[in-house]
Amino acid sequence: MQVEVMISAEDIAKRVRELGEEITRDYDSKDLVVVGILKGAVVFMSDLIRVITVPLEVDFMATSSYGLSTQTSGVVQLLKDLDTSIEDRDVLIVEDIIDTGLTLSYLNQLLHSRKPASIKTAVLLDKPDRRQTEFVPDYVGFVIPDRFVIGYGLDVEHKFRGLPYIGVVNN
Ligand code: 5GP
Repeated sequence: MQVEVMISAEDIAKRVRELGEEITRDYDSKDLVVVGILKGAVVFMSDLIRVITVPLEVDFMATSSYGLSTQTSGVVQLLKDLDTSIEDRDVLIVEDIIDTGLTLSYLNQLLHSRKPASIKTAVLLDKPDRRQTEFVPDYVGFVIPDRFVIGYGLDVEHKFRGLPYIGVVNN
């Protein structure tokens, strides 16, 4: 398998710092809960929370993913819920990538019903070409073309999450 670099580790680090600065400004004096979506968001989230300088709590949710296929089933299933209450708190959902938008619109609706003070979303990557919902993320690292990407948390068949860059597989 040949992996071509789409976004280098240096470019990711620079953009994550910029996002952290923007989020720090926006969440001054707020009660921030950062919700990472397992497993893909763990690398992005761990870098992002270290460049956000306002106090924050972290929690995680997990949804069903593509499994072993690169095509989404169109059905989102909740595999792990939050441990913490988000009522009257400011929630920032952190996700690796938005593709169809089904995962984020499902999670957004679910968390809205728990009456938080606010909900926003941060995604490292945005693949707008295959969107099936009106969902618009609030913070976007990079807009990318419709290619299947791996690395920096993103997997193919459960592997390659530890690559320090975003790559594309060339078979
Ligand atoms: P959506 O619900 O927006 O279609 O998809 C979100 C999820 O699909 C992401 O959290 C990720 O798990 C998976 N996904 C979408 N595009 C890609 C991709 O190019 N590479 C990988 N590894 N996963 C993807």
